[in-house]
Amino acid sequence: MGITKTDFMRGMQCRKMLWLDKHRPSLRVIPPEVQARLDAGNEFGDQAMAMFGPYEEMTVYRPGTQIPDKKKMAARTAEHLEMGTPVICEAAFIYYNNYCAVDILRKTESGYDVYEVKNAPEVREQFIRDAAFQYYIMNRCRLKVGRIHIVVHGPDEANPFVPVDITGEAKGLSGWINEHIWDLNRMQKSREEIEMAPGEQCKSPYECWYYGYCHGTGGTE
Ligand code: SF4
Repeated sequence: MGITKTDFMRGMQCRKMLWLDKHRPSLRVIPPEVQARLDAGNEFGDQAMAMFGPYEEMTVYRPGTQIPDKKKMAARTAEHLEMGTPVICEAAFIYYNNYCAVDILRKTESGYDVYEVKNAPEVREQFIRDAAFQYYIMNRCRLKVGRIHIVVHGPDEANPFVPVDITGEAKGLSGWINEHIWDLNRMQKSREEIEMAPGEQCKSPYECWYYGYCHGTGGTE
């Protein structure tokens, strides 16, 4: 496989992090509070699927597992795009083995608008880069993408899904994605472990799960 949105974001934070994900994932130490945050984010994302009413979800698991079958998801997505399904969730796309699954696609007169859901009170820079990766893959797969939104967690718990339009910023990063995606693809396949001195990238924008391994502490500090 090529790389996913998560791979791209992790590889851009630190190339060694992506390499370890691919070759030595057992070295990860995920702090419980981070896992809890990830779980809460998944729950918020699941609830957001219904924000536009009825929807079709594209998730397909490999038999007997909770591992998504990416090829089947992409094929199912292509069928629903062809049918003109109004709201498609977890819409999957593959471009030269690079993969993305988009939280929500909503049909418009000329194509589809995009909604990426984040369980955060405001849009952060890394969310825009995240959406830019999604746009790059969808655009290369020839989907007509209209507006792109990040759905943040607003203060009204009765109606917490607040879309923020980031179309210009996300589409404007296509060149940047193209500059790095192929290099990250090559790098992740390297047999040799990538050398990278620990530094600010170990904590920003996200604390690295290999902190203990690279700092020789056996855990995060
Ligand atoms: S701890 Fe730092 S150097 Fe090591 S993989 Fe993570 S970000 Fe990279």
